[in-house]
Amino acid sequence: MLEQPITVIPRVGTRKAQLAAKLKLHTLRDVLFSFPRAYKDFTAALSPDQAEIGAEALFHGQIADLIERELSRNRRLIQARLLGNRRVLNLSWFTASYRRGFSYQYMQLSRVDELWVYGTVKPGLYGPEIVGGEFYTSKPKYSCFVPVYPLAAGITNRMRLDWIEFALKHLDQIQECLPEHLSSRFLGRREALRAIHFPRSEAELAEARKRLIFEEFFLFQASLGAAVAKRRESVKHQPDGTVTKRFLERLPFRLTNGQVSAIDDVRRDMESQQQMRRLIQGDVGSGKTVVAEYACLKAVDSGGQVAVMVPTEILARQMYDRFTADFAPLGVSTGFLVGRTSSKRRKEILRKAAERDISVLIGTHALISDHVQFDNLTLAVIDEQHRFGVRQRLALSDKSNADLLVMSATPIPRSLALTLYGDLNISIIPELPAGRKPIDTRLIHPRQRDDVYRFVVQRVKQGEQAFVVFPLVEESEKLDARAAIQEMESLSIQQLAEVRVGLVHGQMGKEKDQVMQDFYDGKLDVLITTTVVEVGMNVLKATVMVIENADRFGLAQLHQLRGRVGRAEKQAYCFLIAEPKTELARQRLDIIRHTNDGLKIAEEDLKLRGPGDLLGTRQSGDPWFKLADLIRDQELLEQAAREVQKLIRDDPELERHPELRAEIKRQQP
Ligand code: ADP
Ligand code: MG
Repeated sequence: MLEQPITVIPRVGTRKAQLAAKLKLHTLRDVLFSFPRAYKDFTAALSPDQAEIGAEALFHGQIADLIERELSRNRRLIQARLLGNRRVLNLSWFTASYRRGFSYQYMQLSRVDELWVYGTVKPGLYGPEIVGGEFYTSKPKYSCFVPVYPLAAGITNRMRLDWIEFALKHLDQIQECLPEHLSSRFLGRREALRAIHFPRSEAELAEARKRLIFEEFFLFQASLGAAVAKRRESVKHQPDGTVTKRFLERLPFRLTNGQVSAIDDVRRDMESQQQMRRLIQGDVGSGKTVVAEYACLKAVDSGGQVAVMVPTEILARQMYDRFTADFAPLGVSTGFLVGRTSSKRRKEILRKAAERDISVLIGTHALISDHVQFDNLTLAVIDEQHRFGVRQRLALSDKSNADLLVMSATPIPRSLALTLYGDLNISIIPELPAGRKPIDTRLIHPRQRDDVYRFVVQRVKQGEQAFVVFPLVEESEKLDARAAIQEMESLSIQQLAEVRVGLVHGQMGKEKDQVMQDFYDGKLDVLITTTVVEVGMNVLKATVMVIENADRFGLAQLHQLRGRVGRAEKQAYCFLIAEPKTELARQRLDIIRHTNDGLKIAEEDLKLRGPGDLLGTRQSGDPWFKLADLIRDQELLEQAAREVQKLIRDDPELERHPELRAEIKRQQP
């Protein structure tokens, strides 16, 4: 039943199923494993007497003084009072109504004497008030914590509540996947799933989260462990050949010590009979690509072929351009394959790969999904850049015994890296190439915004380029999204009117790739984007990064964004436009201002962040995990890693743990 499509739920047809697919909800199991992003406390209805400014709660009382006013042709203001014994709570709603006479909401409200309202109490002109609260004209169905889910166009939270209620009826089909001695240490799997959706108390929610986070880590570690256990023999590559040597001799710069030792590690791994599984970890701009290029050429020198996987099409394109420019003079052929490649091109590329006419094939995960057959694949390179799932990495190495090289700029402490990349050996490039000037990072008050853009225009006139980044707006928040786009547009016609500006945001279709390409090619001076868009671009002339509402970004994200500039000799700048409202927010921005070291930033961030507010659960910072946060939940991660090690030692193929094995399999693409 759990594997059935969500159309088995009453009132869910193919159209809704299509909309739900945007949220990656395909089956009932997906519904069960899509967790709330916050909760509303419906455990008790408060009296208006208890209304404190700032509180977000459910209130219940007599409704009085209901009126509706017409603000304009189709906008109405509805007002009422909710009576307590001693105090009143003012209520108001703005609504759009095209009906003649009273609005629908007014009619609903006029029929009842008592009312339940959920919302945030704000100081109003005439005492405490709730604007736009969610109201119920009869006692709400729920008297618990009510989950709030991520939404998409056409999918409301009420629908999602119906769906989860339906899915929970089939909870008995969920099997425990943790080994017995562990499952008794935590809430049971079914119990945890029920409680994460409908917790009866904060304590129960905390228990459920703990169990499910442990499970995420455990499954993750177990799949890494299984990969290591399976490590096998691979091709023994030749000592550096002519092409490889020429490449190293002709480099236009001196390698850093970190690059030299990473190359030595790769050389040793590739020349051995054992499969290479190596991670090159280095901050943005540390020069990981040279190491990857070295590995590619070494494979080609030995008569092998290489698959290079990059998370997005635009990055694949850039990587392709860069590799082709470097490899063509050496007589090494390259190819490019992404989801959008036309079927005619695709056929040709597949043929060439099969006949070894292409030595290095660069692309997105189309490389996996298209089942490219190589004549002699001996190396796979994955540029992880934060985005690629570990699952793809495992899927890839599952299918072939080619040597594997992964590049990552994820700034995480070494102990964490050892756990997270438990299936890989690690080479670290600790330093940036000499001569790079630290990026001049400044915190700018919104009042001085115009100065920043004047500066941008000035730099552009010197032949430099700039990025402007706006925070990601959730798709469900349509209004905000529109506001952000309007703000971006107004920037391009006002402050940046004099220069060539490209605009890119999540609501655009394919045309955004063209805009990014134009920026990359220097046909645009400034690229204004939301973070929906991958900005992991190597644009050497970009020297200014402006980040709007910088306090809404995670620190690691800010650091990554900043890393997009200052990739050449010229002095680079990063302007964080923000008016931090809390001391914590200010401290966080200070960290970014004072250090350029990704690792240090991650560690400082860890010190600042508390365990987090459970009810308003922040989205986890890492796309690999739904609930787990690598930094906050470090202890559970380490615990899981230890347990998995013990388990794999006793039972490497997980033969005695069929449920665990099934669950790992289920999670692989
Ligand atoms: P990342 O580690 O972020 O992938 P890249 O490999 O893209 O970094 O390198 C960033 C830039 O630095 C590139 O333009 C590259 O040519 C240049 N670069 C790499 N290594 C060196 C070096 N040792 N000295 C000077 N410049 C270098
Ligand atoms: Mg890179």
